[in-house]
Amino acid sequence: MKITFLGTGVAIPQKDRVQSGVLMEFGENKVLFDCGGGILNRIFESGVLHTEIDTIVLSHLHLDHVADVMCLLKANWLCDKLDSVIYGPVGTQEWLERLMDIYPYMKEKVNVEVREVAAGEVFELTDGCIVQCADGIHSVPSLGCRVQYDGKVVVYSGDTEPCDCIMELAQDADLLIHECSFPLDFPMTNHATPDMLRPYLEGSGISRVYLTHLYPHMQGHEEEALEYIKEKFEGEVHIASDLMEVEL
Ligand SMILES: [Zn+2]
Ligand SMILES: [Zn+2]
Repeated sequence: MKITFLGTGVAIPQKDRVQSGVLMEFGENKVLFDCGGGILNRIFESGVLHTEIDTIVLSHLHLDHVADVMCLLKANWLCDKLDSVIYGPVGTQEWLERLMDIYPYMKEKVNVEVREVAAGEVFELTDGCIVQCADGIHSVPSLGCRVQYDGKVVVYSGDTEPCDCIMELAQDADLLIHECSFPLDFPMTNHATPDMLRPYLEGSGISRVYLTHLYPHMQGHEEEALEYIKEKFEGEVHIASDLMEVEL
């Protein structure tokens, strides 16, 4: 399994971090988890052809996670790739239909199947890749995903406060990609900070954690976050950056 962090930022622009997107490769199959603004260009920069991506999993429908979805569909259409599947939380079907109504030329050309998924659901995403979802705690419905392939487990949190539901998915995972929007001791709900996250990591059996979805407020506080978490967490912890690749 190969993971490429395409975008590790948020809705506020900042240097070197575009909005949210993680590419996971399961053998020949490529799946994009979230597709915020800037991700289409990062796909190009990663060396992957956008036409190889026909499966997208959306954690939730905030703009910084979906802004490039239509752009990717259009780029694929222009290159004769018409079919795709989008997984997402409740509301994804209506969201896409309304966008397609605004762009009727897209509606006529592309063939997108939407599959809304709910917490607790388990499904085969691509050959041999099993996904289980759980609800995050966010300002809109947001899903975390446990992805199992070839004996390895990766969990992607989406946007959420650290919470039991998603951390139960992450128990003993090989890799956890968890949002860490704000720095230590930043008063926050609906997102994570290092002090909110650390108690969930202690004793979790997770091997490696990558922190992503960093607000500009985190700039200059990255090392502090890592040191704080390492004091009590026995696994590896890293700050993700755009175009960083991880092999499992
Ligand atoms: Zn969000
Ligand atoms: Zn977000």
